[in-house]
Amino acid sequence: MASLTSSGAIPTNVRIKWDIMLGIAAIHVGALLAPFTFTWQGFWAFFWLQWITGLLGITLCYHRLLAHRSFQVPKWLEYGLTLCGTLALQGGPLKWVSTHRVHHAFSDRPQDPHSPRRGFWWAHAGWLFAWDETLDRPDNYTRFVPDLTRDPVHQFIEKTELLYTILLGGALYAWGGLSCLVWGVFARLVFVYHTTWLVNSAAHLWGYQSYRTNEGSRNNWWVALLSYGEGWHNNHHAYLHSAAHGLRWWEVDPTYLTIRFLGWLKLARRIRLPRGNPAQLPPIEFVPSRRLTIPVPVSVPSLSSV
Ligand SMILES: [Zn+2]
Ligand SMILES: [Zn+2]
Repeated sequence: MASLTSSGAIPTNVRIKWDIMLGIAAIHVGALLAPFTFTWQGFWAFFWLQWITGLLGITLCYHRLLAHRSFQVPKWLEYGLTLCGTLALQGGPLKWVSTHRVHHAFSDRPQDPHSPRRGFWWAHAGWLFAWDETLDRPDNYTRFVPDLTRDPVHQFIEKTELLYTILLGGALYAWGGLSCLVWGVFARLVFVYHTTWLVNSAAHLWGYQSYRTNEGSRNNWWVALLSYGEGWHNNHHAYLHSAAHGLRWWEVDPTYLTIRFLGWLKLARRIRLPRGNPAQLPPIEFVPSRRLTIPVPVSVPSLSSV
């Protein structure tokens, strides 16, 4: 068990999750074949699947829709987008969202699962390999996601999350051979892994702070560029339920643009934004939750639906 220390140091009695560590290592080894298996067919498999799994699956669905409920879509679309999220192999929706809600409840404090105050590499990937009694036992982590736990479809997707990547890999191999398998699964997974992980590591270390959020979150342009807008992370910590993370005109946010596009298609509604001109919003003093029981994300009173 990776018990947390009050000093923020990496715990010494870490129980390694070997299945996760070896699985992620194998995916990186598979990605090393990319230069030797390049075809344009494989490249386009990579290109479209990083967008489908990284943007639609992780940043738009897992993060802004499921974890923060910053907009609403019809249930059939929510489930479809959740399947896209499973293809990023970052865990099922219940596990991902519960870990993320704990991150917001204890940002850069000892209970934060991936604070860089324990070192860049711990925040970037190391935390994934350490067993955590709170976040790895379903009995424990499901209490952070009562909304998803109540939903039998999300429960089913959680239990079968690996299956969809196996099916995708088989289909890609049948369609375009080894090139499509390597580029569409292994290289694409490594790209989406590191762009997601940079939000936890780099965007809690480097960049500017528009808001005094009382933890280390930063707005980082190059992380935002790589992670479909998630690098405007200080804005996000200040306004948890805002569908837009980029709040100034230069803070380009492809995930939010996609949400607006879904709104234009009448598929997304109740898209939440900070009230008023974000450039004139007052700095926020973030008050962290002292309790581990956070049934739903803490509400931010200055948000409105548009
Ligand atoms: Zn968040
Ligand atoms: Zn954060």
